[in-house]
Amino acid sequence: MSDPTPPRPIDLLGLVPDALVVELERHFGARGQKAFRARQVARWVYETDVRGFDEMTDLPTAEREALAATYVLGEPDADTVEVSDDGTAKHLWRLHDGELVESVLIPTEDRLTLCLSSQAGCAMGCTFCATGWSGFRRHLTAGEIVAQYRASRRWAAEHDYGPITNIVYMGMGEPLANRGAVHPSLTILNRGFGVGARRITVSTVGVVPGILELAKRPEQFKLAISLHSPVEALRRELIPLEKRWPLPELVEALKAFETAGGRRITFEYTMIRDVNDAPELAPLLADLAFDLHAFVNLIPFNPIPWQAWGPSTSERIRHFQSVLAQRGVDVAVREPRGRDIDAACGQLRANALVQIQE
Ligand code: SF4
Repeated sequence: MSDPTPPRPIDLLGLVPDALVVELERHFGARGQKAFRARQVARWVYETDVRGFDEMTDLPTAEREALAATYVLGEPDADTVEVSDDGTAKHLWRLHDGELVESVLIPTEDRLTLCLSSQAGCAMGCTFCATGWSGFRRHLTAGEIVAQYRASRRWAAEHDYGPITNIVYMGMGEPLANRGAVHPSLTILNRGFGVGARRITVSTVGVVPGILELAKRPEQFKLAISLHSPVEALRRELIPLEKRWPLPELVEALKAFETAGGRRITFEYTMIRDVNDAPELAPLLADLAFDLHAFVNLIPFNPIPWQAWGPSTSERIRHFQSVLAQRGVDVAVREPRGRDIDAACGQLRANALVQIQE
């Protein structure tokens, strides 16, 4: 009996650039067309924001129709777009199967940062994170990750936001738990869309094998660690993954990452009142950051439903900041962006992302 479900068309956004050209050369070759057509399509995909093959006007109509019969540019529909008073713009994207994911555009004076999601929901269960509380739905494909960039780039151009300068994988999901899609998506954004590797940051709660894999990549992708405590026992309460890859193991992986590429790591430290802001934790955090030459972002906690926690007082935050600075650690306090539209990207971390250190 034949399978009643027709195969899904190939999503060109999910192919790494070399594979995209090979695939299209094969397609055009089978149709008696010259190989250069493949590069023509690649240009439309990466350098323009056309929504479909019918807009690829330097291709014959029959070729556009043949492409549309075989491939898709798998962009999601925007379910909602909310723009904050400070210009932060949150998209809620509806994927082909109805799943919803968020991405956030964060404009600052000299850059436009896009925060991407890598999974629908998240299985990590971090106690301070709205996404963690809502559970895991599924991994995104490489194409679904990249599509958030392409659709956001178009939206930014249409709304005078200018070009996207930086990308952070800090939206819904743990990117290094979806490495099968995240690795190709990094390649596509970097080599296809031309976003510099040093302008792309992968943020993790500490998936050690994923950090080691990233360290081995020749490109200079950057790494941010959701640290939130310099002490194992407390970190375990905030991030269940700590049980699997405890802090000493994480630190070893970070040393390997730093040694491999000379790339500076960023620590994100969400400051939660009376949870992880005790003054005696500040020197411990400072020592850890100093040893790893890490930059530290201190982020006042952004309250979420289901949790009675609140942000640390500004006194506590200033205390941490001064202890770190006195001990020679580069540190910044990141004020939440887009708070009025709840643009925390499903996580508190998103508040810190605008100024990941170069
Ligand atoms: S902080 Fe990140 S890893 Fe933890 S639950 Fe939220 S999305 Fe998942």
